[in-house]
Amino acid sequence: MTKQDPATKEKKYVSKKCPECYEYIALEARACPSCKVRVGKVDQHGMAQQLTNWRAYIICIALWLFLAFYVKWAFF
Ligand SMILES: [Zn+2]
Repeated sequence: MTKQDPATKEKKYVSKKCPECYEYIALEARACPSCKVRVGKVDQHGMAQQLTNWRAYIICIALWLFLAFYVKWAFF
């Protein structure tokens, strides 16, 4: 883990809020200890940025594609 340039880093907050459960978590935390959601850096409102869950997104698309192929195979 590389340290960021202190000049560009937001120093106003000592903790950030989880976007899912609104629990205060450590500023450096990568995931919320309460609800296990992955969080990013703190934004200007003191909220943790919500990261896109790409794996879940891709699995969802894959499942829909599978369903589409299955329907096509089963009924045509
Ligand atoms: Zn949370």
